[in-house]
Amino acid sequence: MASQVVLATRNRKKLDELHRILEAEGLDVEILSLDAFPDAPEVPETESTFAGNALLKARAIAQATGLPAVADDSGLCVDALNGMPGVLSARWAGGHGDDDANLDLVLAQIEDTPDRRRGASFMCAAAVALPDGTERVVEGSVEGTLLRERRGENGFGYDPIFVPLGHDVTTAQMSAAEKDAISHRGRALRSLAPVLAELLAS
Ligand code: IMP
Repeated sequence: MASQVVLATRNRKKLDELHRILEAEGLDVEILSLDAFPDAPEVPETESTFAGNALLKARAIAQATGLPAVADDSGLCVDALNGMPGVLSARWAGGHGDDDANLDLVLAQIEDTPDRRRGASFMCAAAVALPDGTERVVEGSVEGTLLRERRGENGFGYDPIFVPLGHDVTTAQMSAAEKDAISHRGRALRSLAPVLAELLAS
């Protein structure tokens, strides 16, 4: 029987993404969403690093559910903003998860930044925690540059202005599979797959 793993998110897109990637890596796990655990706590992201926040969430959900838990934390690090918004990416403009306002604020903040200094990277930390306290965290990133206006309808967050290095389209102009292949989250989750397999086997 496949081992069960809880993904510490109620975000359907993240659940589908993790499913796609772990399946492609040949991992035989049943991924449960937090929706299966209505009493599981909402874990505030209070750490100053992506790895710290991913571990915080995975740990709390493993304790609350008694099952191995996987969590991620991600964001956009803009060179001209000294790496911000970073862990504050989801709430950069104030309210949590207002993608349009967050993107507009970043664009306004780097309005005067010349093209040669518009570098940025998406970063992701993915963590797994077991109820016995064992934990691991891995990271993935993708470098790129930021446009001055939106292009593309796919993805979410800052995708419409992010052009990965070596590409001439934004991640919002890519299909889900194209983005998975190069994205920070794709890279982090693919690194996590063998770690998860090893922990579940032991
Ligand atoms: P979290 O990992 O759910 O906390 O999301 C952090 C925030 O970073 C999101 O709300 C987006 O603003 C941004 N972000 C993370 N990954 C991506 C991505 O793949 N594309 C665009 N924005 C992203």
